[in-house]
Amino acid sequence: MTLAPAGPRMTGDGRRDANAALVLRTVLDHGPVTRGGVVRHSGLSAAAVSRQSAALIGTGLVRELPEPMAAGGVGRPSFPLDLHTGAVGGPVAGGVHIGVPASTFGLLDLRGRVLARRLFRHDGIGPGELPGAVGRALARFLAGATGTRPLLGVGAAVGGWVRPEDGVVVRHDALGWRNRPLGAELSRHLGVAVRLDNHARTVAQSEILFGAPSARRSLVHLFVGNVVDAAVGIAGVIHQGPGAAAGDVAHLPVPDSTAPCPCGRTGCLEATASDMALGRVAVRRGIVPEPSTALLVDAAAAGDRRADRLLRERARAVGRAAALLLDVLNPELVVVTEQSSVLNADYLEEIRGAAVDLSHVCDDPERIVGPHAGPAVLPVAAGTALLNPLFKDPLGTREGR
Ligand SMILES: [Zn+2]
Repeated sequence: MTLAPAGPRMTGDGRRDANAALVLRTVLDHGPVTRGGVVRHSGLSAAAVSRQSAALIGTGLVRELPEPMAAGGVGRPSFPLDLHTGAVGGPVAGGVHIGVPASTFGLLDLRGRVLARRLFRHDGIGPGELPGAVGRALARFLAGATGTRPLLGVGAAVGGWVRPEDGVVVRHDALGWRNRPLGAELSRHLGVAVRLDNHARTVAQSEILFGAPSARRSLVHLFVGNVVDAAVGIAGVIHQGPGAAAGDVAHLPVPDSTAPCPCGRTGCLEATASDMALGRVAVRRGIVPEPSTALLVDAAAAGDRRADRLLRERARAVGRAAALLLDVLNPELVVVTEQSSVLNADYLEEIRGAAVDLSHVCDDPERIVGPHAGPAVLPVAAGTALLNPLFKDPLGTREGR
């Protein structure tokens, strides 16, 4: 007797869509790769690979390269497949990360590589006007950067509680947003589909798609910016939970911290370790003229011991949070997005040291890493909000796309 494979039974279009996604993912991982290589890596039949390759070439996501690869000795040489990342005709994804002081715009190819980016400061723009201002500036950026390449759409990433299914920001405390239909507002200005998600989840997703292989097995992503939040991915799937509310770690307790939190308590992680909290202390102590983590990293690099001490203190608070998450979830990988450690590896070492000291399950500092895209983490994450649903359903026939 043979057992049916686990999971929902795929018939008809469902199976076709799943096979197309598997072929696309295999080309992402192994391209340029021959159809025979796709058969070997994916476990699909030669007929299925041939059919889905043709369908994917039809969408413009995959192309056949003009130079044949030797077919291993005998037989006809075969033309390998790769994602269509060519400068002529290769589709691109727009992205916008909306932060508190500034937004980051990006344009990505299908491998999640940044082709163009721009910082858009929010100086003098109130939170109510922000979606309109960002939408107009992003439309100009995309018009210039995209050129003649087909634009697949735009991904948007923002902190706080975000509901991806209808593109609503349920709650963003730093911007004072409640139930804001941000996806629809941006889409109106851009004239293309906008996929919105929480930024911690989109970074996690970009690690799963484009980062280290272990990220696909299990990962926790901890985001420490003006907002502090997290995302959990198991077997390649990001957990959202009811109302897509998963990942709020802003109020994890930080021992010895007395920082007051808007929630009414003291010593919460976000109130202690966010960029805003760090900047306020740095300005008060006269270390930097304005609250900026980048300026603080510069000051430390120039020899200011107070700047270095402050950054190491923050790194240890971040490491403690990473230790808690390691103990609860035991992920293969903890990805930490925090500006000082992205700019200077010494602060990543400090985070790793604290995490390993305080964790009860992890004694390997290498399990704690920075984002694979380094300083381009935000534009890559934003574009991934669009690319991830596309990689899941490249033929665009499933519900929800
Ligand atoms: Zn709190």
